[in-house]
Amino acid sequence: MIAYQHEPLTDFTNENNREAFQEALKRTNQHLGQEYPLVIDGKFITTKEKIISRNPANKTEVIGFVSKANQELAEKAIQAAAEAFESWRKTKPEMRADILFKAAAIIRSRKHEFSALMVKEAGKSWIEADADTAEAIDFMEYYGRQMLKIKDGAPVLSREGERNRYHYIPLGVGVVISPWNFPLAITAGTTVAALVTGNTVLLKPASTTPVVAARLVEVLKEAGLPDGVLQFVPGSGSEIGDFLVDHPKTRFISFTGSRDVGLRIYERAAKKQTDQIWLKRVIAEMGGKDTIVVDKEADLELAAQSIVASAFGFSGQKCSACSRAVVLEEVYDEVLHRAANLAKTWKIGDPACFETKMGPVIDPSSFQKIMRYIEIGKTEGNIIIGGTGDDSTGYYIEPTIIADVEPDARIMQEEIFGPVVAFAKAKNFEHALEIANNTEYGLTGAVISNDRRNLEKAREDFHVGNLYFNRGCTGAIVGYQPFGGFNLSGTDSKAGGPDYLLLHMQAKTVSEAF
Ligand code: NAP
Repeated sequence: MIAYQHEPLTDFTNENNREAFQEALKRTNQHLGQEYPLVIDGKFITTKEKIISRNPANKTEVIGFVSKANQELAEKAIQAAAEAFESWRKTKPEMRADILFKAAAIIRSRKHEFSALMVKEAGKSWIEADADTAEAIDFMEYYGRQMLKIKDGAPVLSREGERNRYHYIPLGVGVVISPWNFPLAITAGTTVAALVTGNTVLLKPASTTPVVAARLVEVLKEAGLPDGVLQFVPGSGSEIGDFLVDHPKTRFISFTGSRDVGLRIYERAAKKQTDQIWLKRVIAEMGGKDTIVVDKEADLELAAQSIVASAFGFSGQKCSACSRAVVLEEVYDEVLHRAANLAKTWKIGDPACFETKMGPVIDPSSFQKIMRYIEIGKTEGNIIIGGTGDDSTGYYIEPTIIADVEPDARIMQEEIFGPVVAFAKAKNFEHALEIANNTEYGLTGAVISNDRRNLEKAREDFHVGNLYFNRGCTGAIVGYQPFGGFNLSGTDSKAGGPDYLLLHMQAKTVSEAF
């Protein structure tokens, strides 16, 4: 097995790469408005009711019409998955891993096609979309290799007259519920992790980005995934979500999304249903309220760059996005000033244009929610830049910096999930850490400091699943920075890490007496 590093990002300073991406966008435009069916037991099912996926940068443009599962179809899908599990669980791990490697190769060979689709369906800039595709490939390569590592179980002791073995078996039927903000990477990562470990899956993608998910399902089929192993059941979370979670044949749920939906799933999954003979497992990766702390002894330009890139990349719609900058009072004004100047240089617009640094937010309800938070922010601090939005053609909101906010203000506590960052002043480094830890979340954080003692303090006391020193707080790479958060950010599953696959399996001990 060739050692794997990670998928390189596309160098868009190279004109040939830019031309290739333009071509991919043109091809994507030619396929807009297609229909996408459900896939149940390998059969394509077209329903009358459709999810209409629209371009958030241009709301009149339809990306695709996606068939919508109802409870009856969801039931069929669960039965098919339960049946397929009996053979899939016995397939060789090597074969399952090979399907992932093949799928990674297919996506790699059509990389720009996937990225271009995300530009259109999710409103990602070229660079953000390219990184999303690279991450999806990384998940497939990484989990394939991890499966080969754990396929023989772990060593246990044996003694005379007795031979003991300890190995991992799959759980059963898993429901994978994915978000729209990494429509390829997270959907692919959560789905293939469940599959490669021998489970069968129902994939319910976010209703705002179902076309990317449909394309992923096509790739997995092309890579050799047998019929019935993966069911594609797009549908409204509020209509089929509870049904899928509550079903007695559901063995586990792998959810990535908001805190409120995660909590609902966690609670419902805990209830034993009639005919249910197991405790459901829940992997839940939820929201964040992520902080960059800037020390007084720090590279202040690096601090401003880190804050701006982490706050406004993909319009702040990352669970890891920086939505709070906590800056020591000695350098507060300087960092604020530099961050504002940097943010002013960001070009906002249609992400189909390469020069666009920041595109729209995902949909009208996100737009309204973020604008409401900006209004709250106006009463809790001072708008330094931004603060306005325009939803006449797409859902555009300017990068917004709100200064002089109190640590317990709403915009310092609640996940906004948009291009809004609040600045708060700290008296000293201990105070900065206290503010950084004062939310119910614990996903990512960063410290910009040249003081080794303070970095060590943060290593111990900054309570987040992913902590970064002297860089921004977004951009975890599979296999390098396993990703997941503490507290109400979820179950800390550490996607892209060495323990992740085991969450989809259970260990079995077999002891033979001679
Ligand atoms: P969301 O509204 O919670 O939706 C996530 C998924 O849950 C969607 O597929 C949604 O379907 C589905 N859903 C909605 N209601 C449901 C229910 N009652 N039962 C089952 N499923 C249901 O989140 P989002 O807006 O897509 O994503 C943004 C959130 O995800 C943010 O909070 C962000 O921080 C978080 N996130 C976390 C991570 C992480 O690794 N920690 C990574 C990415 C995103 P519909 O689309 O049909 O409603």
